[in-house]
Amino acid sequence: MSKLVRPHGGGELKPLLLEGEARQEEAKKAEGLTKIPMTTRETSDLIMMGIGAFTPLEGFLGKEDWQGCCESYTMASRKGLFWPIPITLSATQDLADSVAIGQEVALWDLETESIMGTMKVAEKYSIDKEHECKQVFRTTDPAHPGVEKVMEQGPVNLAGPVKVISESYYPEMFAGIYQRPADARKIFEERGWSTVAALQLRNPMHGSHAYLAWIAIEVCDGVYIHQLVGKLKPGDIPAEVRVKAIDALVNKYFRKDRVVQGGYPMEMRYAGPREALLHAAFRQNYGCSHLIVGRDHAGVGDYYGPFDAQKIFNEIPSDALLLRPLCMDWTFYCYECAAMASMKTCPHESKAIIDENGNYKGGARLLLSGTLLRKLMSEGKPVPSEFSRPEVIAVLKEYYDSLEQKVEVKLHGFATGTAQK
Ligand SMILES: [Zn+2]
Repeated sequence: MSKLVRPHGGGELKPLLLEGEARQEEAKKAEGLTKIPMTTRETSDLIMMGIGAFTPLEGFLGKEDWQGCCESYTMASRKGLFWPIPITLSATQDLADSVAIGQEVALWDLETESIMGTMKVAEKYSIDKEHECKQVFRTTDPAHPGVEKVMEQGPVNLAGPVKVISESYYPEMFAGIYQRPADARKIFEERGWSTVAALQLRNPMHGSHAYLAWIAIEVCDGVYIHQLVGKLKPGDIPAEVRVKAIDALVNKYFRKDRVVQGGYPMEMRYAGPREALLHAAFRQNYGCSHLIVGRDHAGVGDYYGPFDAQKIFNEIPSDALLLRPLCMDWTFYCYECAAMASMKTCPHESKAIIDENGNYKGGARLLLSGTLLRKLMSEGKPVPSEFSRPEVIAVLKEYYDSLEQKVEVKLHGFATGTAQK
C-alpha cells in the first residue's frame, strides 16, 4: 500500500486521457465534430486534465464553479472542493451560438493544428473577465501576461466533461523528463518514499535552488525537481536547455537516490500566490507531500509581494489540501558567511558588490535571481561563480552563444538590487 499523500479530492487519480482502442475510436469520431480552437493555455490545461494532474476535475468549468474558484477557491458543483484557479475554455460568439447544449465538439489545438480531445457541451456562459483578473491575478493591468490572455479570450466560455486523446508533442519532445502523476508516484513508491518535496522550476537551477533542494532533502525522503515544460514568456530559457543544466547540477552535486526529475506541460499564468496554490494542488496529485515555496513563487514583475505566495497558504482552510508548503526565506550566497544562507540565518546585511567583469568588490549578500542571471548572460557579461555552479553556467553560455537574436530581459525591482554598481 502506498505511503504517499492521496490525490486531491480524496479519491484515486483521475486521468481523462483515453488509451488504446477507445482513444482511436474517439479520435475518429472527433474528425466529424465542430472544432473549438484552443489557445496554448487551454491546450495545456486539457493535457493536465488528461494525465490526471488536475484530479479530480472532469472538464472545463461551468459558471457556478468559475465563480466559486474566483471568489472562494471552491467548486460549488463538487461540494465546495478546493480549487484555486478557474480552468476554462472560451470561444467566439458565433462559434458558441452554433453549438447546442449536449452537443459533442472537438477540441482543436491552434498551435499544432490537431485535435486534442472532445467535450460534451453542458453549459455556455459569459464572464466578467476583469473580475476574474482581479481575483486571480490581483490586477487588471493588461501588461501582466496572465491578464493579457484572459482579456484576449473569446466572450463565451464553454463548459463540460472532456475526453483527452493526445498529449501533443510533450512525450516525444521531452522524453525522459515529461511525467504523468501516476509515473512519478510509481517511482516514489519504488524508492519507498512517503514524504516528497516538489521544487517548482521554470528558470535554470542555480545556487539558491540547489540550496532549497538540499534543505528539502534534509526534512523529506526526497526531492522532486519538477520543471515546467509548457509555454513561458519571451526571453525565458527553453525547457530543453534547463533540463540539460539541471542534469549537469544533479549529476555532480546530488545523491541520485534522493532526487527525481520530472516535467509537466502546464503553461505559466504568472498568478503568483494563486498559482502557488494550483502548483500545490497538482503536486499533491503527483504524490508530493510538500511544495517548496520561496520568494516570489510564480510571480512576474512587481505585481506580488515577495512572500505573498507563502501567506496565501494561511488564508485557505487548513483542510483544503493535504500537501503542505515548505516556506523558505530569501536565499543567497553570503561572502561573510562564506556559504549559502537566507534572511533567516545570515546576520550580514550589506549587499555584495559585483563589478561589470563579474568580480567581487566587497559586501556580504549576493542576492541571486534567475532574472538577473538571465540578463547578465544574454548580454554576454560574466557571471559570478557564486551565482551558479560552473557546469550550469557552461550549459547556459552555450545556449546564449547559439542565439542569433539576443533577447532583451527586463529586470523587475527585486532583481535589480545587486545589478547596480
Ligand atoms: Zn552572512
